[in-house]
Amino acid sequence: MRLTPFLAALPAANAAAFQLPFKIPFFQSNKQEFQLPTNSETRIAIIGAGAAGSSAAYWISKAQERFSIPIDAVDVFEQASYVGGRTVVYPYGNPTLPAVELGASIFIPKNRNMWRAVDEFNLTRRDFQDEEGLGIWDGEKLLFTTTGGWWSYWDAAKALLRYGFHSPRRTQKAVDGMVAKFLTLYSSQTPKWSKIEDLATALDWDSLVSRNTVEWLKAEGVSDKFISELVEASTRVNYGQNADEIHALEGACSLAPTGAVGVQGGNYQVFEQFLNRSGANLYLNTTVKSIAPRSGKWKVVSDRGSETYTAVILGAPWHSSNIQLPAEIKIPVQPYVHLHVTLLSTTLASLPAESLGLPSSTKIPAMLLTTYEGARNGGKTPEFNSLSYHGKISDEEWVVKIFSKQRITDDWLNTMFNGQVGWVHRKEWDAYPVLPPTSTFPEVKLAPGLYYANSFEPFISTMETETISSRNIVDQLLAEHFNASICGATDVIKDADDYVYGWDC
Ligand SMILES: Cc1cc2nc3c(=O)[nH]c(=O)nc-3n(C[C@H](O)[C@H](O)[C@H](O)COP(=O)(O)OP(=O)(O)OC[C@H]3O[C@@H](n4cnc5c(N)ncnc54)[C@H](O)[C@@H]3O)c2cc1C
Repeated sequence: MRLTPFLAALPAANAAAFQLPFKIPFFQSNKQEFQLPTNSETRIAIIGAGAAGSSAAYWISKAQERFSIPIDAVDVFEQASYVGGRTVVYPYGNPTLPAVELGASIFIPKNRNMWRAVDEFNLTRRDFQDEEGLGIWDGEKLLFTTTGGWWSYWDAAKALLRYGFHSPRRTQKAVDGMVAKFLTLYSSQTPKWSKIEDLATALDWDSLVSRNTVEWLKAEGVSDKFISELVEASTRVNYGQNADEIHALEGACSLAPTGAVGVQGGNYQVFEQFLNRSGANLYLNTTVKSIAPRSGKWKVVSDRGSETYTAVILGAPWHSSNIQLPAEIKIPVQPYVHLHVTLLSTTLASLPAESLGLPSSTKIPAMLLTTYEGARNGGKTPEFNSLSYHGKISDEEWVVKIFSKQRITDDWLNTMFNGQVGWVHRKEWDAYPVLPPTSTFPEVKLAPGLYYANSFEPFISTMETETISSRNIVDQLLAEHFNASICGATDVIKDADDYVYGWDC
């Protein structure tokens, strides 16, 4: 999971305007190079080269490494010119400055696939510790501030005074319970699911997904104030949704941020490595237009032509992929949160208090999160979900990242930062599913041989969980078509603390 209020406060910007400054030799982007498969070939198609698609290719290759599975080729189709689904930008377009994530910024040690991948692929993690404090803004008032960052608030006397002892402790306990169950997904006895509903039941999470975060925490004895301030700040920064709107499983994920890190230079490198090491054929700049049954296989039509596959993994949110599926396949409508990410550089070391209408003596923390509580009570709606400083790019310039529901205008930026704004970069995402309490999810298997990795996103939406979803799908695909699996049959329970299913079997 990603989970931390300062998560989103990390770098972001615009993929459309961005050219990756590296070469990817194994990528195939020349449209003439595509080889039509012969009818006898067993090929798998994967659509999307984000967390889901790239990891699916990797899991298939891990199984092939261990067992002799007769798959002739794996073809990955990606409409963008880069891998990763989400990407990075460089302040002023200058690749010698630190890369700033436009989309997913962080993961945590308990995200064992991401963590393991960084180690196996010799990438470098970087901390996202916030040193300069956190504030909760309701649109008119700064309700609560710390000086030492998100993590220290649990211990802070100020927090104790405002929220008491029980609410933070009870919240932590409830979140720890969720995380403990999450970790069973990496054990040799991991559940395997053909429906997300079955997984919810196996992990005893039915009551989490069917209630909102407020209902869940109130039932745990957590106070209204703690929920409407610190908890809602987390759900708003992580998922752009209020605590009374978002289901409690995703609410709990927002609150499980211990040890958040990202990959130095950009998280996309993990997904690039997944693909590189998988040996799959990657077709960039290639949009898939339709998937249809053909003689017991699947015909995939892209702007490169059409090919036939034994099985297809859809690793993109279908609602926005514009892929035509057979009419009998029904994927429930899935609204996404439309998010504006605004990156800027400024010579101001912190946001001036006057910009928020506060006395000039007020120190504004480096990370401002928000609550909707003021608006609920007739006050002003905060103009952003989060506004946070992300370190220096030169001796006197800082990078700031803003998440908001509406476009942040130049005028607004200039007013807020006293005209001291340098570089500005904007990106709009359909970022995460709208996640109301529910008891139903999209099908994992849309039809025999056609699988949907993003069925997991309305359950939990993170990079890590997309790799877990793909792992489960690859296991299912291998079982159904090749009588195989990623790890093979084992009766031995392997429970070493660092055992990770899929990697260590
Ligand atoms: C601003 C923001 C912040 C976030 N922060 C975090 C975070 O800190 N931590 C975290 O874990 N998660 C975070 N997330 C969520 C995370 O990014 C997603 O859960 C994850 O990227 C989903 O991965 P995916 O591979 O399923 O989909 P995507 O990343 O959306 O990848 C799908 C790919 O499919 C391609 N595609 C789509 N249609 C077609 C087509 N027709 N033909 C060919 N290719 C197609 C797309 O171009 C894309 O590359 C954040 C998201 C956003 C937007």
